Amino acid sequence: MGEQTQTLDLVSIRNDFPILNQKIGKHPLIYFDNGATTQKPLSVIQSIENYYKTFNANIHRGAHFLADKGTTAFEGSREKLKNFINAETAEQVIFTKGTTESFNIVASGLAKSYLKAGDEILITGMEHHANIVPWQMACETSGAILKVIPVLENGELDMESAEKLLSEKTKVLSFVYVSNSLGTINPAKELIQKAQKLGALTMLDCAQAVGHFAVDVQDLGADFIAFSGHKMFGPTGIGILYGKKNQLENLPPFQGGGEMIKEVTFEKTTYNELPFKFEAGTPNIADGIALGTAVDYIQSLDRQAVEAHELELLQLATNIIENKAGLRIIGTATHKSSVVSFVSDHAHPSDLGTLLDQYGIAVRTGHHCCQPLMRRFEIPGTVRISLSFYNTKEELNAFSGHLDKVLGMLS
Ligand code: PLP
Repeated sequence: MGEQTQTLDLVSIRNDFPILNQKIGKHPLIYFDNGATTQKPLSVIQSIENYYKTFNANIHRGAHFLADKGTTAFEGSREKLKNFINAETAEQVIFTKGTTESFNIVASGLAKSYLKAGDEILITGMEHHANIVPWQMACETSGAILKVIPVLENGELDMESAEKLLSEKTKVLSFVYVSNSLGTINPAKELIQKAQKLGALTMLDCAQAVGHFAVDVQDLGADFIAFSGHKMFGPTGIGILYGKKNQLENLPPFQGGGEMIKEVTFEKTTYNELPFKFEAGTPNIADGIALGTAVDYIQSLDRQAVEAHELELLQLATNIIENKAGLRIIGTATHKSSVVSFVSDHAHPSDLGTLLDQYGIAVRTGHHCCQPLMRRFEIPGTVRISLSFYNTKEELNAFSGHLDKVLGMLS
């Protein structure tokens, strides 16, 4: 702390996140688990409180002041998210529970409406289970076949294999923009364009991208994009599915119920227009509104300064791990987000994590919901430090000292 770059005032930024200012036992909290979930600024916490304290009411249907206020705030938040990802229209921004639900909506919908036996769905070897299992389920119902782009030793995608795997049979290419366990930033636009030339639909997992750099859906060109609020300083239980308008219109609804209908008779129901066709039932109003507040917070920051600071943190973290005997970084791609995953010659990742916790350091250990990727590297899991803009070099240096002690205990 005490550090100040030209435009990123870390003291003031850290004051925006009350949770960071606490001790775990005798030690100041060092929160290096941002890949799992990010912390929330006070404005987001207050937004949730304010909704329940002052205008809690069900939205869209109500004919009274509070219902109107809630509807305006909820739809206002959708508009903020539309601008945040540069979507063409707000109706293409669907509120979901998060990335996982967004994938399930698309995979199950395409299985019913588009995929046929023998069609190929292409994913990569570094996917989170959220971008594997829904497609396996889609294969079960449609008879489609799952194909996988391999991952190179440095954690980059094997683009030569990708070229070979992409063919006229490929009906869907779905892949991760930023790997949660390796930090690799994949060449999203390039892959999307290659797949689209062959007529495939594309879906991009932006869960680990939106909290780190600007994501422009029109520039990327993917047919569908998914992300979670809680990984971008917003609440849990809320996320986004973006889709191109015609693709969302072609996709059947995910759930039936209130909100998603135009007219119901016992003989036949017609569905509501976008975005409501995919938002059955009472939505997560408080968190939807607070996600808009998280967007406001991100946009109040100098995003270039954020990226520069995170890059410095990544370089320092990489140096720290590289210079300790017996540690090996898993994922050394040229383009990386601020994630460093490592294994030790002597210690199991979970032992390292447990001992680091004794010093107030929160890291993630295990397979990071990427079991096939761990199998690819023939490891049980890694210790992962995932950094955000509110982390500091001082925290990394303290972590380095504590890691030495922990490694000493386990050697
Ligand atoms: N995709 C990636 C790359 C992730 O990192 C995660 C969560 O860790 C997910 C998908 C699933 O996100 P959620 O659990 O918020 O649905």
